[in-house]
This record gives sequence, structure tokens and C-alpha cells, in this order.
Amino acid sequence: MVQQSEDMTKIAFIGLGQMGSLMATRLLNAGYDLTVWNRSSAKSDALAELGARLAESPEAAVAGTDIIITMLRDPAALERVAFGPGGVAEALGPGQTLLDMSTVGPDEIRSVKDRLPKEAVVVDAPVRGSLPEAKNGRLVIFVGADPAAFERVKPILSHLGAPTRVGELGSGAAMKVVVNSTLGAAMTAAGEAIALGQVFGLDRRTVLDVVANSPVGGVIRSKREDIETGRYPANFKLSLALKDLQLVSEAAAKADLALKVASASREWLEEAADAGLGDLDYSSVIATITSRDCDANS
Ligand code: NAP
Repeated sequence: MVQQSEDMTKIAFIGLGQMGSLMATRLLNAGYDLTVWNRSSAKSDALAELGARLAESPEAAVAGTDIIITMLRDPAALERVAFGPGGVAEALGPGQTLLDMSTVGPDEIRSVKDRLPKEAVVVDAPVRGSLPEAKNGRLVIFVGADPAAFERVKPILSHLGAPTRVGELGSGAAMKVVVNSTLGAAMTAAGEAIALGQVFGLDRRTVLDVVANSPVGGVIRSKREDIETGRYPANFKLSLALKDLQLVSEAAAKADLALKVASASREWLEEAADAGLGDLDYSSVIATITSRDCDANS
């Protein structure tokens, strides 16, 4: 039985993937009045059992709610949900706020704002942290919004983690691209160090112990079990990490900025995706770099 929230804000939650389902569950457990929609309707069932209302379409989810949260895969998914048939844009009106928490980059979020009805408020609030942080309400949340809109969404976001306003609309999305530009670099650098250890004939566990205390030690410490077992169950899918590095590359190309490390790590992730690892955790790129088999069914 969920508690009743003192905050009477009605929320629509759209996108119940790995992250969205955990975040929506937290809001429901905090007592919010929640309506949910997901493209694959089966993923909504668990939320419905906890008391969420099911909507037939994104448009239907928007009706009668104050804040519409989207947690979707990529810009294409946000486009579909916002402007496709039965999309959010068909119902969004004055007094309603679209709060996008997906990683889609600043150009996409600003473009969405430009095409929605003028009275609707748009806030970008992508997150850092993965499934454990989403489950425990410990996400780091980068918010792009004017100060009034930030104050409006802050109580809700505080149930999901620590929201920080980093600037106006699009700034949160930009900050998320900045921080994720380091993610691929750290993981692929760790993979290259392990591959080099193999070439030298060094003991693999000793290499892992040593690299765990190097500048890329964080990724080794958090993914060591996956690396040692060769099983990479997805916390953060490799295909999503690749999408993020594509956002990095697009931003760099637009500004004529050379980001050579980001390009090299994107190439590794592309190779891993081509080898069929897209639905595994992004750490499985290490299997590609070290030319080791990994369990594609894990
Ligand atoms: P996910 O499990 O793949 O979920 C993606 C969601 O987007 C699902 O609800 C999916 O619906 C929906 N979707 C995809 N294409 C769609 C389309 N064309 N139309 C409508 N809906 C569509 O991904 P996730 O791990 O939850 O990640 C969600 C977002 O958070 C991504 O932008 C990701 O980069 C970001 N993020 C993820 C993590 C992490 O550790 N996983 C951490 C920080 C940020 P279906 O269920 O029907 O496929």
C-alpha cells in the first residue's frame, strides 16, 4: 500500500525502461498520483499493480496532470512521444510542465520546446547514476530551467536524487553530454590497459588489482565481476553509451572542435555494437578490446 503524498501534484510518467520503471516506482511509493505510459505496454503492469493509472497513449497520459516526466532512450524516442500520433504535443497546455529526464542533448530539448505550445513549460533534467542509484533515490540530476520552473520540479526530483540547477533550458542536457564524454574514455582506456597486460603475459588478476588503483580505477572497481566472469548484464546498455558518444561527436563537429579521445572510444563502442553486444552493459566493450568472448545471453 503506497502512502498518500501531501504534494497534490499529478504526474504522468512516460518511458518505463530500466531506469524509468525504478524512478516511477519511487514516485508512486512517495504517494504521488501517477499515470504511466510505455511503448511496450507489458512494462506498465508492475506499476499498475502498485496503483498507477494506465494511459492508452502519451496524449492520454498528459490529460489532467501537472508534470509530464519522460525517460526515453534517445532523441528519436522523444520525438515519437512528443510529436508522433497520440503524442504529448496534442494535449499539452497552459500550467503543464514537460520534464525530460532522458539523455538527448541540448539541441533536441531546445527544439522540442520551440515546437510545443508556447504556454507549456519545458525543463531538462537528465541523470547521472545507474540502476542502484535510481532504485535508492540517489541520482545526480542536472536541471536546465529558469529559477521558477526549477522550484516547481525540485520537490518531485528530490524523491529521485539530488537536483542541481546548472543553467537555463538545455543546460542540464548539455552537462549530461559533458559528463558522459568521460565515461567511454575511462572504460575503453581500462580495456586497453588490460589488453596490454595480456600482451606482456602478466597475470590478469594482478593487472586488475593494479589498474583498479590507476586514474581509471573507478570503472575497474565497479565492473570487476563482469570483467572476470565475462558476463555483462546491462545496467547501462552499450547501445546507450554509444548513443551518448554520438551526441558528443555531433556537438563537437558542430563547433569544429577536435575531441580525439571521444572519437576513439566511440569507435571501440561501435565495434562492440557491431559484434552484437549492444544490449549488454557498456563495460562489455572490454571484451571487444581484449578480444575475449563474453556471454551475449547474460
Ligand atoms: P531502456 O531500458 O532502453 O529504456 C528506454 C525507454 O525508451 C523504454 O521505455 C522504451 O520503450 C522507450 N523507447 C525507446 N524507443 C522508443 C520509441 N521509438 N518510442 C517510444 N518509446 C521508446 O533505457 P534506460 O536505461 O532506462 O535509459 C533511459 C534514458 O536514461 C536513456 O536516455 C539513457 O541514456 C539514460 N540513462 C541511463 C542510465 C542507465 O544506467 N541505464 C543512466 C543514466 C542515464 P520500450 O520499453 O517499449 O522499449
